[in-house]
Amino acid sequence: MENCIFCKIANGEIPSTKLYEDDDMVIIKDLNPQAKVHLLLIPKQHYANIMEMSDLQAATLARCVKKLSELADGFGLENGFRLVSNKGEHGCQSVQHLHIHILGGEQLADKMG
Ligand code: AMP
Ligand code: ZN
Repeated sequence: MENCIFCKIANGEIPSTKLYEDDDMVIIKDLNPQAKVHLLLIPKQHYANIMEMSDLQAATLARCVKKLSELADGFGLENGFRLVSNKGEHGCQSVQHLHIHILGGEQLADKMG
């Protein structure tokens, strides 16, 4: 996808701090962290949100999320974490390429929103 910042990060055109990469995804450090540990899980395939996601992409995303069970401790998330995916205007999605925020590394607020 042309002019998509996360496509460019995924294919290495734009530099990022990549903590993990496989055929399906990259996990990078968020540029503007909102918690002590703030990472982004970015599928390599471009789609804006779950409304645009195919069944195959959904299965791939599930695999990516499951992989976090192996990776979380190594990211300093052994005491827990929060996964968030913003969608659309009310969700304040700013990058139109689906991504999952991974937040933790400290006690998070018990309320969201
Ligand atoms: P959202 O508002 O849910 O679409 O989240 C987009 C996130 O991408 C924000 O938390 C930004 O800080 C982050 N972000 C934007 N550009 C970059 C970049 N070049 N490298 C790392 N994170 C970025
Ligand atoms: Zn993209």
